[in-house]
Amino acid sequence: MFCPECKSEYVEKINVCQDCGVSLVELKPESEPLENMTWISIADFDGAALAEMAVVLLKQNDIPCYTKGDFLSSAFGINASSLPGGTVKLYIPDSFKTQAEGLLKNIISENG
Ligand SMILES: [Zn+2]
Repeated sequence: MFCPECKSEYVEKINVCQDCGVSLVELKPESEPLENMTWISIADFDGAALAEMAVVLLKQNDIPCYTKGDFLSSAFGINASSLPGGTVKLYIPDSFKTQAEGLLKNIISENG
């Protein structure tokens, strides 16, 4: 059993993290298969530079992400497609939404 907050591992009999007080989950959070995640588009960027900054920031924080647009092919084998106006969409797993929004707040607001 693992704590989804602090990622501590507990023996089977324990159901609640003693540090965080949250219910433990059976799967270790970071081992959750990517294909089982719900991917959401968190932001649209007008150009590659801002999107690239966002990707770097997310990766530094261990948040899986991919972009779909006209400058980068996806890390997960989804081919980049040309979108009108060179918009780059940034996708992250739904479960990272709050964390990613916090990290990307400045970049997204600069993007207007
Ligand atoms: Zn915990």
